[in-house]
Amino acid sequence: MKNSGFVDRIDLPIDRIPSRWYNVIPDLPRLPENYIDNSTGEPVTQEYMERLLVKALAAQESSMERWVAIPEQVREAYKLWRPTPLVRAVAFERELGTPAQIWFKYEATSPTGSHKLNSALAQAYYAKRDGHTRLVTDTGAGQWGSALSLACKLMGLDLLVFMVRASYHQKPYRRYLMETYGAEVRPSPSNTTDFGRKILAERPDHPGSEATAVSEAIECVYDDEGARLSVGAFSNHCLLHHTVIGQELREQLAQIGRTPDFLIASVGCGSNLGGFALPFLEDKLNGADITILAAEPEACAPLTHGEYRLDFADAGGRGPGVYTYTLGHDFVPPPIHAGGLRYHGCAPLVGLIRHEGLLDAVAYPQTEVFDAGTTFARLHGYLPAPESAHAIRAVIDVANECTRTGREATIVFNYSGHGLLDLEAYSRYNAGLLRDVEEEDFAAPSMEALQV
Ligand SMILES: *Cc1c(COP(=O)(O)O)cnc(C)c1O
Repeated sequence: MKNSGFVDRIDLPIDRIPSRWYNVIPDLPRLPENYIDNSTGEPVTQEYMERLLVKALAAQESSMERWVAIPEQVREAYKLWRPTPLVRAVAFERELGTPAQIWFKYEATSPTGSHKLNSALAQAYYAKRDGHTRLVTDTGAGQWGSALSLACKLMGLDLLVFMVRASYHQKPYRRYLMETYGAEVRPSPSNTTDFGRKILAERPDHPGSEATAVSEAIECVYDDEGARLSVGAFSNHCLLHHTVIGQELREQLAQIGRTPDFLIASVGCGSNLGGFALPFLEDKLNGADITILAAEPEACAPLTHGEYRLDFADAGGRGPGVYTYTLGHDFVPPPIHAGGLRYHGCAPLVGLIRHEGLLDAVAYPQTEVFDAGTTFARLHGYLPAPESAHAIRAVIDVANECTRTGREATIVFNYSGHGLLDLEAYSRYNAGLLRDVEEEDFAAPSMEALQV
């Protein structure tokens, strides 16, 4: 198919928003391992899960139902931005001189700018329905926190967010967004929890991490009977909710008579990759030649450099343990701008498919990622989130390989979010100051005054 323009674009009508989520668990080659209760070393009990999580979500965690109906109120809210477009990056293909077609699923049309609202709305809905009064969560650069803040406001629920301290001070715009939607936001480590006070006593300038923020969130949940923990990426239920992405993609590809050869997504925990690619796993298991490829930051790459073992989701080891790829729960990710990818482990379902040989992974240093993101922005206008730019960086390698072999492959990547609140990082890149690992957590002296 010759195309002289910049793009091609496939949209679905609003009534094609999926009416069910796809649960991959019954189709996996083997069942996921149990979550382990850190205090007993035994598999977690139903009671443990329901004290920590919203009841319906605890049930979804181990559900063997292949299809889960999307509640009407959630599907209505999806109409805010879904279905999302599938766009062909014709100018990018031409720039790379590849015989492959490059398509991307554009998840950045959501009100908060990323895929994260797919699960946030579902989680806030069930929390409200099951009678809880408040959700508590952790966020890195604030993508998850801002999505959940909006979702809680729409569903009528209070929200407390622990935001990684470095981002809280130096990347405050998503905090402002969360506060605008009505959430309470605290830096982690904070002096409002025992865990936060303990690690601040050891290291007063601790930059925080997703893992410290989860620990503090869990402590607050145990202190408040009406509160439950909401997790933005790790859990099976979170991946489940994101499968609206892959289901829409299937339909869009069917419209143009194509099947994917490569499905590429960035991985922090694996929620966007899971939602995007798991609906194609069965085809792969049935023999379709589909490569699912995870793009990670070189500085924090559990799938590429970690090991598959039992580890904890949080730094304090207070949450459940689980088998997955991990760099160790006490790993403090070095400063890079893709805040959403700074996490020591990955979702157990993503770890499992990697362990079963169904998922490939590559890692890239930050400067190469921003080269790719900038190239893409100059060709297509869309400015990718640093997280999404990892997927774009991986697309370049795959497309170049197709050029070498003359393969007219269909490459699809997940454009998980826009980078319009990450311009500080692009400005450092433009000024030639960006390093593969920053010396400090994104020094931004003008923000000093905001420190609390
Ligand atoms: C959070 C985030 C990611 C990484 O998280 P996953 O759980 O791996 O999807 C990627 N892209 C964007 C835009 C994000 O906000």
